[in-house]
Formats: sequence, structure tokens, C-alpha cells
Amino acid sequence: MEKTNDKIIIKDLCVFAKHGVFKEEKIMGQKFLVSVELEVNTRKAGVSDNIELSVNYADVCEVIEGFMKEYTFNLIEAAAENLALVLFANFEQLKGVKITIKKPWAPIGMDVDYVAVSIERRWHRAYIALGSNMGDKLLYLENAVGSIKNDVNCKILKISDIILTEPYGPVEQDDFLNGCIMIDTLYTPHELLRFLQKLENDANRKRDVHWGPRTLDLDILLYDDLVLCDDELVIPHPEMHKRAFVLEPLKQIAPDAVHPLLHQRIRDMVQ
Ligand code: ATP
Ligand code: CA
Ligand code: CA
Repeated sequence: MEKTNDKIIIKDLCVFAKHGVFKEEKIMGQKFLVSVELEVNTRKAGVSDNIELSVNYADVCEVIEGFMKEYTFNLIEAAAENLALVLFANFEQLKGVKITIKKPWAPIGMDVDYVAVSIERRWHRAYIALGSNMGDKLLYLENAVGSIKNDVNCKILKISDIILTEPYGPVEQDDFLNGCIMIDTLYTPHELLRFLQKLENDANRKRDVHWGPRTLDLDILLYDDLVLCDDELVIPHPEMHKRAFVLEPLKQIAPDAVHPLLHQRIRDMVQ
């Protein structure tokens, strides 16, 4: 995703609300100070002097105040986490956000200026390969895309054509339907993997034969320009550069995306 260092900053918005582990905190309430740094590209608004092209900080303050008062969390960690989701859902142009919630009256029986939690969250650009070669293949792919679209942690930006491919690997099996999507996601790589695996399970995916027939296969191809390798997850997907059924649909939606290990554009990786 296009990076920007531009920020819109709101410091110490004071809201009286009812977050806390103790019963008294949930009944009496107390003062919270909320600060946000909104990562927004302000270039167009700056050049045109048109507020429509920016994020209106008055609107942001209203959303923050409404959110803080409407809900009751035990932890300011949870308040911050959910506030991030609400801000991303309300402000389309928001690329990232830093949220600090201070609790100046925290009931800890000692004199502190405040206690606070500070988090940073952002959209990550990821590419997912879709595959199916069992049952109503197209329906499995469409349902998966629908579920990803409906998740607040994901935005679908592009969907490739679905192509028909001969099976690959040692197992005799039916033809595949394959495709690719470009998404922005708030999930970490491992959260995204678990989310996709849940969708595979929802599609009755059985895991008996490796590379065997499957109702639904969702692989993470790229995640920002991350290079990661552990027992559960390898990013970029280790086979992607060898597979025409991955590269062809990916080229359609992201010809200029760059493989972070091979340093090649997708368009140049397609033989
Ligand atoms: P291939 O990964 O070669 O396409 P496959 O998709 O058939 O094979 P699965 O049985 O779906 O393999 O997945 C096996 C394991 O691969 C998963 O349990 C998961 O932990 C791991 N894995 C590693 N990297 C990735 C990735 N980038 N995307 C999805 N799964 C991955
Ligand atoms: Ca796969
Ligand atoms: Ca897989």
C-alpha cells in the first residue's frame, strides 16, 4: 500500500466513561484521555484546501466520544483495540492509526500522573490464492470471497478471473478452479492464516491427502513486503513463483507487485 508520513493528530480528548475491571468503575465512571494519530494522505486536501478530501477531525472526535461512552470494557487494551476497528470502519481513507488511552484516575491507590495503553494498527496489503476441485467449485470460491468481504478485518480490493486448471502434483484428481484476490487486512499474518483455515473448515475441507482433492484452498501469497518462515507459515508462499495457476490470476490484479525475495515483478515472473 502507498505509504504516507502525513498525520492528523488529536491529543487528550477528554471523555467520561465506564471502563475498568472494578464494579465501581463500571457504575461511577471516570475520566479517560484519548489521543489518536491518524495516518492519512493529506496531500490532496492540502493542495486543494477542500475538507472533503481529508478526514474531518471533528467527526473523528465525535466517533471516539460516542464509542467510549456507548461501550464498557474491563481493559483499556480492549477499548483501544475496538476503537481502532470502529475508526477504520468509519473513515475509508485511514491507512493506519496510533491510539493512546490514558486513565488519570486509575484506582491503584498510588499517585501517578496517569496509566495508559498505546497501540498502533494499520491495513496490510495481502494477496490470497483461491482454489477448489471438489463439489460445487465456483460456489465454494464465491462463498469464501463473500465471507472475507463480510469480515470487518478485511477489505477486498480486487478479484481476478477464475481460471480452469489441470491438477498439479502426484495425486490423480479433478480439474481445479483457481483465482486470486487483493485485500487490505487488519489481521496479523498468523491471524489471517487462522481466519482462512476456518473458512476452509467451514467448506468441509478434509485434510487427509497432502495435495489431494479439496473443496477450498486459501493460501497467503504475499503480505506487504514481509518475509516470514516458521512452522505454520511461510510468506511469500514458497511455491508461488513456480505455479502458472497462481501467477496468471495474480498478474491480472497485481502485475507490478514485487516478490520480496526474488525482487521481480509478478508480470516478469510469468513465463
Ligand atoms: P501448498 O502449500 O503447496 O499449496 P496445500 O495448499 O495443499 O499445499 P495445505 O494442506 O492447504 O497445503 O496446508 C498445509 C499447511 O501449510 C497449513 O497447515 C499451513 O500451516 C501451512 N502454510 C505455510 N505457509 C502458508 C501460506 N503462505 N498460506 C497458507 N498456508 C500455509
Ligand atoms: Ca495450495
Ligand atoms: Ca493451502
